[in-house]
Amino acid sequence: MALGTTAENLARVQQLLSADWRLLVGGELIGAPDGRTFEVTSPLDESTIAAVPDADEELVNDAVARAEAAFPAWRDRDVLERADLVRTLADIAEANIDDLALLDAVDGGAPVSVMSGDVRMAAGLCRYFAGLALEMKGFTLPSEDMRFTMRQPFGVVAKIIPFNHPILFAISKIAAPLVAGNCVILKPAEATPMSALHLARLIQDLFPPGVFQIVVGNGPTVPRALVRHPAITRIGFTGSEPTGRSIQQDAAQTGVKKVTLELGGKNALIAYPDADPDKVAQGAIQGMNFTWSGQSCGSTSRLLVHESIADAVVAEMTRRLKGHVLGSPLDPDNDQGPLVNREQYEKVLRYLASAKEDGAVVVTGGRRPQGLDTGYYVEPTVLDHVDATSAVATEEIFGPVLSIIRWTDNDDPVAIHNSVRYGLTGSIYTNNIQQAMRTAKQLETGYVWINDSSRHFLGMPFGGFKASGLGREESIDELLSYTQEKSINIKL
Ligand code: NAD
Repeated sequence: MALGTTAENLARVQQLLSADWRLLVGGELIGAPDGRTFEVTSPLDESTIAAVPDADEELVNDAVARAEAAFPAWRDRDVLERADLVRTLADIAEANIDDLALLDAVDGGAPVSVMSGDVRMAAGLCRYFAGLALEMKGFTLPSEDMRFTMRQPFGVVAKIIPFNHPILFAISKIAAPLVAGNCVILKPAEATPMSALHLARLIQDLFPPGVFQIVVGNGPTVPRALVRHPAITRIGFTGSEPTGRSIQQDAAQTGVKKVTLELGGKNALIAYPDADPDKVAQGAIQGMNFTWSGQSCGSTSRLLVHESIADAVVAEMTRRLKGHVLGSPLDPDNDQGPLVNREQYEKVLRYLASAKEDGAVVVTGGRRPQGLDTGYYVEPTVLDHVDATSAVATEEIFGPVLSIIRWTDNDDPVAIHNSVRYGLTGSIYTNNIQQAMRTAKQLETGYVWINDSSRHFLGMPFGGFKASGLGREESIDELLSYTQEKSINIKL
């Protein structure tokens, strides 16, 4: 099915939203205890679009018990059969690409066309991890006896995900732990649970009961119950730094647990004087992920540009952003929709006000767009002459706000780059290979682009330094991180 017109998409969304929403627990689609629900609202007009089950700790305990019961058979199943089921998950996602993308658009606010890309990326990651199944190998040590290692799954894994790429994370982040032989309980974000709950229906019978489950609840009760459950010793989290640190604390208080964290960023693109200003402008806009209203962890929200090319870069960015169309995420031709919710919207406006007070110059945007009277829209915003130490230049805004920090030969752009607490991605624009390589080595980030931005590549480890996280994903590291090594020593 190809994406329809806005009216056709709206009709299809209404049809999808008329469903009775259920959690997936023990192979059954169930409601929460006492039929309790919470409301999911639309970022387009704050209307209630669905009432979804509001799980509690007891339901989490039940899900964990079912996962524990399912684990031995899943662990012992042929690894290639597990991989085949994860490939089928990819096929089912792609066969339902438009519905999943529409549900992401309607509760998250990003345009349906880019959310289709998220479904394709999720399917690609499933097939990638399925293809790596036989790489979960051990080794044999030379010896007079016999010494070798093997890799085994943990058991029950909790995956807790954020609101910004709902279906991409709901699918791609369960692939590695499932291929590795773990049972997985997924907790989607409360603002954007719709696509994951739709997925629950689509794959209800794909995995044996208890192998993959989805629980949703309003507030921290459900995810905290997962993290604190004694039977869960492996937690994979994607979200904000404060939540990540709280998870580490909860995990440490309740057991010895392996926690990996994909957290926030305040990423920078460094443009050296020899860089082509047009390419820098294109890379900065692509890197800022305006299409998700900047709500992407890897967004290069700081542009550190040498004074000698700064005016040319700013002029080209302004020209390019004039063609950027804001509007309903259900219109496949729109470039940007609203922010996810009122909280995010108000936070972005607060940062814009503080930037202006700190002397930043608004080049484009800086406000809600005229003509869009409802919805949490903020124009793609470029701020110039930003002080590198101001709040807008050091804190994660998670909105469509790019701060330009100009530097001269008297400044060290790498020091400015590294001055923030985060270290997720970094981008370097120069034609000087020595400059590029020297800078790449000095950046305190886990992912670096040279003369590029924003793009992820299958197999390249993604993850952060410093407050941006622990662990690496989208690569074999992710698969192996869901196994634990065992050494076996035989006396011959
Ligand atoms: P968030 O931390 O508020 O919530 C993420 C998830 O954690 C949600 O499912 C939420 O219900 C759950 N949660 C809330 N309180 C919890 C607690 N006490 N214990 C356990 N779980 C809890 O993040 P968000 O606002 O949904 O997402 C935005 C953040 O995610 C940004 O900081 C962004 O940079 C980050 N992010 C990082 C990556 C990455 O790969 N590094 C990718 C996407 C988003």
